[in-house]
Amino acid sequence: MKKKYLIIGAGFSGTVLADQLVKHSDCSIDIWDEREHIGGNCHTKRDEQTGIMVHQYGPHIFNTDKKEIWDFVNSLGEFRPYVHRVKAMSNGKIYSLPVNLHTINQLFGRSFTPEEAKAFLETLADKAIEDPKNFEEQALRFIGKELYYAFFYGYTKKQWGCEPTELPASILKRIPVRFNYDDNYHNNIYTGIPVNGYTALMEKLIDHAEITVTLNKKFDPATDVSGYDHVFYTGPIDAWFRFKYGRLGYRTVTFETHYADGDFQGTTQMNFCDENVPYTRITEHKHFTNWEQHDRTIYFKEFSKETEPSDIPYYPKRLEQDKTLLLKYRSDAGALQKVSFLGRLATYRYMDMHHVIGEALSFAKTWIQASKNNEKLPVFPNLEA
Ligand code: UDP
Repeated sequence: MKKKYLIIGAGFSGTVLADQLVKHSDCSIDIWDEREHIGGNCHTKRDEQTGIMVHQYGPHIFNTDKKEIWDFVNSLGEFRPYVHRVKAMSNGKIYSLPVNLHTINQLFGRSFTPEEAKAFLETLADKAIEDPKNFEEQALRFIGKELYYAFFYGYTKKQWGCEPTELPASILKRIPVRFNYDDNYHNNIYTGIPVNGYTALMEKLIDHAEITVTLNKKFDPATDVSGYDHVFYTGPIDAWFRFKYGRLGYRTVTFETHYADGDFQGTTQMNFCDENVPYTRITEHKHFTNWEQHDRTIYFKEFSKETEPSDIPYYPKRLEQDKTLLLKYRSDAGALQKVSFLGRLATYRYMDMHHVIGEALSFAKTWIQASKNNEKLPVFPNLEA
C-alpha cells in the first residue's frame, strides 16, 4: 500500500531523501519548508541587478573524494571546473591560503624548498603538546605560534565568539597545511560549481508527481502528524523538543551586500584574519562562474555572531555544554516512533554539502531496506561524530 511521508526542510538532506524515497518505494511525500525558497543554506539565485549567481547564505563550493557522490550531483545538473583559492589579509598584507609553501615563504620572507619549510616548521611547532586537546593546541603543535596568530587566532575568535582553546581541534583539521605551492582550499579530488546554481539541483530532486513542496510553512512540533506513516525531520533537534532542556549553541552569520563596477577584489574569497576588522571574509560571487561575463559585481561582507531565537542557525558550536544537551535530545529522539532525524541541524554537526548528500543517500538506503523488511526503522544516520 502507498505510504505517506512528511519531510520537514527542503535543503539537501530533505530533497535527496525525497528523491530516493519516491524512486525506491511506493509513497507520496509532502515537504514543508519555513522559507520562501527551497535549498536551505545552499540556496543560490541570480541577483536582479547584476545577473550574477549569488550564494545567498555564504560561499558553497562543491567538493568530495567520493566518485559516487560526484556522479550523483552531476546527474542533477552541469558542473564546471572550479578550484577554490582563498586569499587572506593579515596585518595589512595579502597571503595565500590554506597555509602552503607560498604562505610560509611570504610570512617569513624566505624562499624555502618544501623540505626546508618542513624542517623550519618543525622548529616552530610546540612539541611539548603531545596530544592536542583543542583548536589552539592543534595549531601550536603543528604550525607554531607565528602562523597561528597571523591567520587563525583573530579569525577564529571573530567566527566563533570564544577563545580557540574552547573549540575542538577538529575545526582546524578541516584546513590543509601543505609544503608545496598547491593552494586549492580543499583536499578532495572532485570539485566544481553547478552552472545553474545549487537550487536548480534540488528542484530536479523534487520534480516528481508524488512530491509536493509547501513553502513558507514553519513546522510546529505540536502539529498532528498522525496522518503520515513517517516524519523525516531536518530542522534543529532542540526545536523539535521545544527547547525543553535549553538551546544548543550556534553561530549565525549576517551579510552586508555591496555593488561595484568591474572586479572588486580579484578573487572569490578574501579572509580577514585580524581581530580588529569586524567581518571575517568577503565573498565576490562573480568569481565562482568565470565563464560568465558581468560588467558589475556584487560582494558580501560576512559577519559572525551568536544566534538569537529569530536568527538562522549556521555553525553548531559543539562546546562541552552543547554536547551534554545534545545527548539528552538524542536520547529522547531515540524513543520516538515514526520519526527520523537527518542533516546538519537535526544531528547538530558541522557538515559540508558532500557529507549531507552522502549521508542522506546512505540513510535512505538503510531506512527503505528496514521498512521493506519490517525491521526497526533507524532514527538517526550512523553518528560517529
Ligand atoms: N579559520 C581561520 N582563518 C582563516 C580560515 C579559517 O582561523 O582564514 C578557522 C576558523 O576557525 C574557521 C575554521 O578555520 O571556522 C574552518 O574554516 P573553513 O574555511 O573551513 O570554514 P567555513 O568555510 O565552513 O566557514
